[in-house]
Amino acid sequence: MKLIIPEERVSILTGKRKMIIAKFYPPPNQDVRELISQHIKWSTDKNNIVDIISSKSLNEQSAVYISAKNPGSVKITAEIKNLPSITGGVPTSDSISVTVKPTFPQKILIDAGHYADGNTFDHIYNGEEFTYKEGRQMWKLQEFLVQELKNIGFIKTERLRENNESITTWKEPGHENESWEFWMGRENRIRGEKAGDYDLFIQLHSNAPKDWITLDEDNFSLVIRPAHGLHQTGDFADNLEAVIKNTMELQGDKAITIDENEYAVLRAARDSGCPRYFLAENGFHTNVNSARWLDSDENLKELAKAYAEVIKNYFESTS
Ligand SMILES: [Zn+2]
Repeated sequence: MKLIIPEERVSILTGKRKMIIAKFYPPPNQDVRELISQHIKWSTDKNNIVDIISSKSLNEQSAVYISAKNPGSVKITAEIKNLPSITGGVPTSDSISVTVKPTFPQKILIDAGHYADGNTFDHIYNGEEFTYKEGRQMWKLQEFLVQELKNIGFIKTERLRENNESITTWKEPGHENESWEFWMGRENRIRGEKAGDYDLFIQLHSNAPKDWITLDEDNFSLVIRPAHGLHQTGDFADNLEAVIKNTMELQGDKAITIDENEYAVLRAARDSGCPRYFLAENGFHTNVNSARWLDSDENLKELAKAYAEVIKNYFESTS
């Protein structure tokens, strides 16, 4: 007779339900599975930390939902009890150590700059042509980042748009005469206005040279930080810049502060009451190596993990 909890290590977040399963293996030629499934008892070494809030027994396995109140480590045990004729009087049991991680109360909003296949740049890499699409790749980075933040305990993380389309339309009714630039400003203002309910807002971009950056300089990370934010957020931007640089193996990071009044999305985020709002430039997509790097899902996942670590460290050290 064997009873095994298959997962070796389980981690859960406080306040979230997690299912744990125990499987049992009866002796050969003995069909006692249903009987035994009624006799698996679950327990924990710290009742004050973990509630076993429901349990059910299936044919070959028993499952519990546990919900932890506090961070820490707990041991969960499943054992076959009160079946002396089958177990020979010796309870058969297995235990698992569960790490309980905290959930963070902060609300985070992530937006991919641009939309759909917008903002493209053509490259030749090792003789092969490819088109980098900022709107598409930043949406992917956003999706990895939202998932990673939820995984590490920021359960109140949301994406700004439901799908990778713009919220408004160029020259839509009532705006027939607007220029493309004016529309971009209107679109970004409406996005920024959605940040008011959140503790942190980040819009994700890859960069292209502007009048103060030349094409041969396009090898650094850049986080545009608010000059007028309600909170002191300088360290956060520095740390984010550094991990983008290190993860993408860029030449440098430029620690600059730009007046957020120059960016419709940041200005609107500030005016809506969001205390921390940033625009992050993940390298330059005009740089062929950076564009190629950003074109990989695996690289974007790595970048999302690095972002999540910076965000976690920031909120752990300030709250
Ligand atoms: Zn951009």
